[in-house]
Amino acid sequence: MDQTDALACHISGTDGMSRLRAFLILAIAAGVTWIAIDPFGHDGRAPTHREKTIALTFDDIPRGPGAFYAPAERTRILIDALRKADVRQAAFFANPGRIGPRNDGAARLDAYVAAGHVIADHTFSHRDVHSQSAEAFLADVDKAEAWLKGRPGYRPWLRFPGLNQGGRDVAKRHAVLDGLAARGLKVAWVTVDGSDWNMERLTIDAKRAGKPMDEAALRNLYVETMVQAADLSDQVMRRSVGRSPPHVMLLHETDLAARYIGDLVAALRADGWEIITVDQAYADPVYQPYPELIAANATLPEALGWAKHVAGPLYYDRNDMPVADALFAVFYLQIDF
Ligand SMILES: [Zn+2]
Repeated sequence: MDQTDALACHISGTDGMSRLRAFLILAIAAGVTWIAIDPFGHDGRAPTHREKTIALTFDDIPRGPGAFYAPAERTRILIDALRKADVRQAAFFANPGRIGPRNDGAARLDAYVAAGHVIADHTFSHRDVHSQSAEAFLADVDKAEAWLKGRPGYRPWLRFPGLNQGGRDVAKRHAVLDGLAARGLKVAWVTVDGSDWNMERLTIDAKRAGKPMDEAALRNLYVETMVQAADLSDQVMRRSVGRSPPHVMLLHETDLAARYIGDLVAALRADGWEIITVDQAYADPVYQPYPELIAANATLPEALGWAKHVAGPLYYDRNDMPVADALFAVFYLQIDF
């Protein structure tokens, strides 16, 4: 039986109608712009010279099982897909505190490095700055560094859990950024976020509930969401810093990534993006610490856009979970009306 068929089941008509109603209300409230599902040429432009560059990063290694694969199998498939897509170097941000004897976490990180990718710090336990003191946060960073430092493929980069740098708590934000600088760690900003982890969660939930799923629609949702997120971020960065910097896409070590990363890379290239290494991206001066920015759950384009009062939308609406959930439910599950 095909893996997609294994998801087959049924959502009741009543449930479907209420979800549709909920989505339409949310769509109007959030000002969602409907764009036809055509991720492989979504703006109608022919591929041009590579005016936009982007690197790929994956967070939360080792993540647990998804809807399709055992974690070790997922790692093999993701590595193979990145190689086939000619992605020379992605970054994998680790939570060493989640490595255990059952999840092959260390072996998986080693496998990414052996394939040419790099690894960096996402804190030991994945607790965000907001939920603890600056000292406790930095101690958690140190525990992760103790595991990571000296391993092949290590890079001195810190990706904040939840992208939270302390928000409006200026003293804490400065204490954390000063602490990172003292340790020689660079802030691993993200410029592109489409909440891929939420699509993974919804897919796992749908499988557990025995709901039907359209494989092509799921792939298109993943690809279209991430390409749209990249283009919105690029527009915001052009307005806030006057150029298109090398971008950094936030993804997670998910089954959806293993399954669709090749499609996503192809769609990005068709949309004019060149895939670059993470080393190339983070060498750009746009990736400064920016201690003055209020960054709580924010990408760099959002944080800069707020600070500089940039006009136009700064925030990708599919990062609103009710919008993303309703979109997934109505359009990507086979609902009977
Ligand atoms: Zn994370």
